[in-house]
Amino acid sequence: MSTIGALNSEERLAAIDRYDILDTPVEEAFDRITRLVCRLLKVRISTVTFIDGHRQWFKSRQGLASQETAREPAFCQIPVAEGRALVVTDTLEDSRFRDNAFVRGEPHLRAYAGVPIRGAERTIVGTLCAMDTEPHPFTDEEVERLADLAKLVESELELRLLATIDPVTQALSRRAFRTEAERAVALALRHKYDLCCIFFDLDHFKSINDSAGHATGDAVLEKTAQTCQALLRKSDLFGRLGGEEFAIILPHTGPVEGLGVAEKLRKAIENQLVKGPAGAVRVTASFGVAAVGPTPLNVDSLISRADEAMYRAKMSGRNRSLMWQGSEADPIGLTRRVLKAGSIVFNQGNSTINCTVRRLSDRGATLDMVTSDGVPRRFKLNIPADNFSHACTISVKSEKRLEVVFD
Ligand code: GH3
Ligand code: MG
Ligand code: MG
Repeated sequence: MSTIGALNSEERLAAIDRYDILDTPVEEAFDRITRLVCRLLKVRISTVTFIDGHRQWFKSRQGLASQETAREPAFCQIPVAEGRALVVTDTLEDSRFRDNAFVRGEPHLRAYAGVPIRGAERTIVGTLCAMDTEPHPFTDEEVERLADLAKLVESELELRLLATIDPVTQALSRRAFRTEAERAVALALRHKYDLCCIFFDLDHFKSINDSAGHATGDAVLEKTAQTCQALLRKSDLFGRLGGEEFAIILPHTGPVEGLGVAEKLRKAIENQLVKGPAGAVRVTASFGVAAVGPTPLNVDSLISRADEAMYRAKMSGRNRSLMWQGSEADPIGLTRRVLKAGSIVFNQGNSTINCTVRRLSDRGATLDMVTSDGVPRRFKLNIPADNFSHACTISVKSEKRLEVVFD
């Protein structure tokens, strides 16, 4: 398989998606490992790196300022694509790397050792790396130590999945929520009672983290979860499905009543004031609601319908609650959450920018990229894993994200 093919393979991105790790905050469990790498191998820089469709993103980093970089110059692409360690003792002595942007410019890498981190079915998801700004003669023993520490990263990733309660919000973890929701939906179908699902996502949460800091962001998550739990019944299920995304299962609740609950939660969140180290902040959230029946619905479809309605609430202005209406009535269509590697092609095919496809419907897509600067209003989107190629037009543009509609 070609280097790019391996990097962009569906299995590899699915294995990353399973951990739901991209864009999550720093965690001590991973920082401890990169600190150990620096100490044991006597290097200045160490990272736990994940590579998606357009970037390398660091879950943990020592000695590096940026949280992510473009994918093209990344040394980490090589161990990920080739499935084995890459060791470069002096980048200036190696014709493959001498002119690399990270050697010529910041962070001026002179030495690199990276070993693969493997996820489900041994699929490579990222790397554990040791780097330095001076040449470094990595010994076999050092590379073995790095490989042992990469196994620790793998264990940490699996451990995160096993947790049933999220430590920050005390909500059910994604996996526990799904298991409990499956049981609740089965009961509702067997005994023929109503059940609905609410999905919500905090609005512009990135900017809260950026302006008030992660600690305040975490305080907002904790408080929001408390606010919701206090308004819900003991028999309802409340889960944290991702960074700032939550879902609720309401047994014995029909769609209209469910929309009422969503509105009650939305207003309570809007009115809460969260005190953080940098002062008090307010937050809003967008809600989607979907109900079981009259046709039976499995739990994944129920949650994705609520998620689709939430997405429509975002696209129509945020801080609102919407009911799932079916794709026919929905101008955005059925938007699946995906993690796929794509490319943005323009300038008569002469310019290409890597992107990661985060949502996809038959009418449009959400794309993440290093920067949306320089992307023209109309371009062609290719998703090689799907044999997909379609002309599209930008409908919403932000710094690193584009919403597009297919022409
Ligand atoms: P939108 O209104 O479109 O939802 O905008 P957004 O900024 O909320 O959306 P996006 O999904 O792009 O960003 C979510 C951010 O949430 C990314 C990450 O910085 C932050 N985040 C994820 N998990 C945590 C966490 O556990 N703690 C904190 N403080 N921030 C988190
Ligand atoms: Mg959000
Ligand atoms: Mg989100």
